[in-house]
Parts: sequence; structure tokens; C-alpha cells
Amino acid sequence: MCADVLRICTGGQPGEHEFELLNGQLSHVILKNCALLLVFLLSLPLSGMQKIEATDPHSFSNYTQVRTRHLVLDLAVDFTRQQLTGYAEHQLERLDPAIDRLVLDTRNLKVTTVTYSDDGVHWQKAVYLLGIADPLKGQPLTVQLQAKTLSVRVYYQTTPQASGLQWLTADQTSEKKHPFLFSQSQPIHARSWLPVQDTPANRITYQANIRTPRELLAVMSADNSANTERNGQYRFTMAQPVPSYLIALAVGDLHFKAMSAQTGVYAEKLWLDKAVAEFSDTQKMMDAANQLFGQYPWQRYDLLVLPSSFPFGGMENPRLSFVTPTIITGDKSLISLVAHELAHSWSGNLVTNACWNDLWLNEGFTNYVENRIMQEVYGQARADMELLLNVQALREQLQQLSPDDSRLQPDYRFRDPDEAFHQVPYVKGQLLLHTLAQHFGQEQFDRFLRDYFATFAFQSINTKTFVDFFTQKLNIKQSFSAASLEQWLYQPGLTGEVKLPSSDAFSRISVMQQQWLSGKLSINMFPTEQWSVHEWLYFIEQLPRNLTPQQLIELDMAFSLSNSRNAEVFTTWARLVIPLNHQQIIQPLRQFLLSVGRQKFIVPLYTELKANPQWRSWARQVYREARPGYHPLAQQQLDKLAL
Ligand SMILES: [Zn+2]
Repeated sequence: MCADVLRICTGGQPGEHEFELLNGQLSHVILKNCALLLVFLLSLPLSGMQKIEATDPHSFSNYTQVRTRHLVLDLAVDFTRQQLTGYAEHQLERLDPAIDRLVLDTRNLKVTTVTYSDDGVHWQKAVYLLGIADPLKGQPLTVQLQAKTLSVRVYYQTTPQASGLQWLTADQTSEKKHPFLFSQSQPIHARSWLPVQDTPANRITYQANIRTPRELLAVMSADNSANTERNGQYRFTMAQPVPSYLIALAVGDLHFKAMSAQTGVYAEKLWLDKAVAEFSDTQKMMDAANQLFGQYPWQRYDLLVLPSSFPFGGMENPRLSFVTPTIITGDKSLISLVAHELAHSWSGNLVTNACWNDLWLNEGFTNYVENRIMQEVYGQARADMELLLNVQALREQLQQLSPDDSRLQPDYRFRDPDEAFHQVPYVKGQLLLHTLAQHFGQEQFDRFLRDYFATFAFQSINTKTFVDFFTQKLNIKQSFSAASLEQWLYQPGLTGEVKLPSSDAFSRISVMQQQWLSGKLSINMFPTEQWSVHEWLYFIEQLPRNLTPQQLIELDMAFSLSNSRNAEVFTTWARLVIPLNHQQIIQPLRQFLLSVGRQKFIVPLYTELKANPQWRSWARQVYREARPGYHPLAQQQLDKLAL
């Protein structure tokens, strides 16, 4: 079955511009003659070559000509080698009958064989070409199609460079008994563990056979069942079409507990009961969202608690959101993250941005829907505080971003789409929808969104599609001026008019803080027993940046902020006191950096440490120790800091 590898030089420097060519008809020949490459290229039908024009700049794939409609995965999970081995079978829809090749995205995959079939039963070796590696996009895998080819199977192995996988040793898990694996495909990391048309513009259904060690359980963004027998052989089906970035897999010593008939939690034993208690309002959130935005379209909704090295807060993998344990605080104070991941069931998973330049359609809408859910379940005051804290974070980030990056639709064509995930698509996008809701009235705007989600369900769209729909359905009388919308969408910064809510709780804190700073009020008089995490965050963020060592000690004596168990509070406090050289933070900070891998916390903390020379060598040492436990994406980000 194995095909043979030909290395062909295309000219220039020796070794430069190399293709790996696997061809069933030729064997064991090393070709270094450029003329032979020409012969090979000419041997492939040329009709498709000039027509290939992928519209997603982050994908090599020719999904507008031939697309995968259904994917079959057959993978063995090998923890010893830290490798997935098996095949990905692409069942194709040929949109342009003249097209004679399928182009898939890959990155750091070892492709061993490619076969094709006209009937799904008989398979033959295919001619294929693994193209030049692009530092951003990886390598295109071009497979020659015959006139009637309906399926293509790619046999492959992952490599240790797979940016979309994290392999944890038993020691790196909370139970410390079994290893753990999880994937993170968004935005373009699916290609590092699956050869796939890795673009949000194409949606596919999938099924998977996953083999693992017998004692471990596999779960996917598919039809997980509470009754699955733990035997090392797992089958999954995802019957609703999803973009490749929502294909997800996790394997570990996982256990399940239901929270309601429709919702439940998967986690290592240590976290399971705590997570179930923390997330027990999930069904209420879903009921609220159903009411506001239309019936939940994915059947079950479960949450998977990952080890603390998970680099994000959550990932909205359909039917099974992956979440960080840093939101399990015992008081539901950070539960808006669950509302956020659940909100993606409509914004993002149901209606998707067609490419990463339109990320605001995904994250801005989700922040808005999240806040509406929070408002319905926990009340207006909490939702307002969360919105105000978001705006504060956006304003802080706008000071660091280039004008282009501060647009809702920036140009990421030649950049890593990982860099697009900052406050602008999330919060500026949210503020645009917040502004529209105020302009048209909350109820009318909710109705419009319900219509929008129903109209574009299971589709991938761009900003123009949204604008056209908005103009036809809501802005019929043009009462919201085209110029204002244009400004929101295409101009840098936060120039559009925003009416923000006020928060009585925040106002009270500002007044008391001023009284304390001017010596008129003792810190012990602050009514902190009733403070929510939002009030704590506001309090810390409003503190002046030039507090004296005595004031820092006074705050720590009163509130023990350096030992806060709430990761949001701890990080906000640590970022304030690092430049002020507050010694009480050293031990807890070291412990935090060694145990938490969520980029939202560790990247700003290391950045702050680097900016303050007195901390730099200490930070370098801690990073050296912590790095092996961080996710590859976090390592990549932090390596760039060059501590
Ligand atoms: Zn999100």
C-alpha cells in the first residue's frame, strides 16, 4: 500500500523549493533534475491549475471547486509516541465537474499513502503532491482526481510539531494517573492533526472511529453519550455540518455527570463535582437563549473541563464546549464564560464567519448574545458591570494596537489569524450590536437576530452579507445612517457613538476609593463581603499605578489579594503590583505561572515581568520551569516575548 517518496528540485539553491511527491507508479528514485519536475507537472491534467482560486486567504484548498461534504476519521491515539495514526476519508462534492484535483491543507503531517475510490468500496493509489511548506499556512496536499472519483483517503501520522494538539503526561493532569490529549483547531490548527480543507467557509459532517488505551475515554464535538462503555474503541457522528475549526477530540481519564436532561459535564474526577456545582445554571442559560434566539440546534450541550494548561478560557466545540478549570471558583463569579461558549451555538457555530478577517461576526455577536443571556439569568446590573469591564479592557488594548488592527474588519490576509483574537472583534463588535439594539429597541433587535440566525443557519457568511440583511430587514427606513455603520465597520478605533450603561456599584466603589486614597476612610470600612468579582476587578483596575509600598501592604493585609484564588482577580492585582515591586506577590505568582496555562493570564503577566528589569531573570527562570507544561500555542506566544 505504501507509495514512494520522490524529492524533486525545482531549481534555485539546492534543497530549496522541494516537493515531496508520492506516486504509486514510480518507485525509489531520487530526482534532482528540474526537467523531470516539468514532466511530472505536465503529467497532471492542467485544466484545474489556472482555475484554483481559494477565497479564504488562510487556506490552500480549492473548496469552491470540489469540497469535502463528509469526513470519515479512523485514528489510533498513541500516548507513548504522542502520535495520531490513521486515515481521513473525504467524501466529495464536485462543484466544478472539470476539476481534476483536490487540494487539502496540512501542516507538519507525515502523509504515507493516498487512495481514491469511485464507489467507496474499491480503492486505488492516487497520485499526489505535498507542496512547499508555507510558514503560515503549512503545506498544500494536491491529489489527482479521476473523472468519477467520489472519495479520497489520506493515510497519515501527526508529528510532535502539531500545533493543534497538546499531549500531557500523567504528571501534568490533576489526577496524575493517566495521560491526556486534547485538540484546539481554531483558527487554522485542524490541519496540523487532520488533512482537511481548513477553512470556515466549508462545512462538513463527520464520523470518527477513535482507538485509545482501554482505560481512557475519548470525546469529540459530536454525539457523546453518557452510556459509552469504556473499552478503548469509540465511535462518533456529527450529523450537522460544521467548519473544520470545530472538529475536536479529547482523550483522558474522563468521567461524566449530568446537570439536566440536556446538559452535563465531562472532567477528571477531581474537578467533576465542583464543575457540576459551578455550571449548574447552564440549563437556565440555554432556556433563556432558546427564548431569545431560537431553539438550540445541536441537541445536547455538555462541557468538558480540560487540564489547566488549556490556553484559552473556552472553545465552543459544538455539543461539547472545552473550558478551563480557572473558571471554577466556587461562587459562579466567572460563569459568563459558559454563557459565552453556549452563545456560540448560535453565533459562530450556526452562523460562521467565512474567513478570519470577519472574525467579529463570530466573536462580537457572541459577546453580545452572552451578555443578553447573563442579563436574562442574572439581571441587568451584573450584565452591565460585565459590559463595562469589557469596554475597559478594549480601551486598554486599543492603546497598544495599530490603527489597522483596531478596525472591525482588519486585513489578516498575510498574517497569522491567531493574532486576530483580541478585544476588537469581541468588544468593539459587541458594542456595535449594543448600539444597534439601543437604536432599534431591545425587543426588535432580538427579533432581528433570531431571524438572522434562522436565515443563515449552517452557513458561513461575510460582513457584506450581514450588512445587506441588516439593511433589508431592520434598517428599512435607513434610520441608522449608512455613514455610521461604515464608520463602525471600517474605521479604526472606537469612534462610533456608544451609550454605555452606568453602574451604581462601580460608582460607589470609585467614591470610597477616593476617600481611602485621601485618608478620609479606613480600608476596613469597605463593604467587601457583598462585593462580586466584578466589583473587585473594578476596584483593582481603578487603583492608581503609583501606590506606595505601605498602601500595597495595607491592601494585602485587608483583602489578601496576593493570595486570591480567583484567577481574574489575582492576575489583575499581580499586573498592578509587579511594576511596584510588591514582594508578597512572588511566591503566589510563581505558583500561578507554574500551574495555569491560560494565555489570557500568563501572556500579560510575563509581558509585565519583562517590562520591569528587576523581575526579568526571575521570570526567565520561572518560564524555563513552566514552559514544558504550556500548550504549544502558549509556548509560541511566550517565546516571541524573548524574556
Ligand atoms: Zn468566543
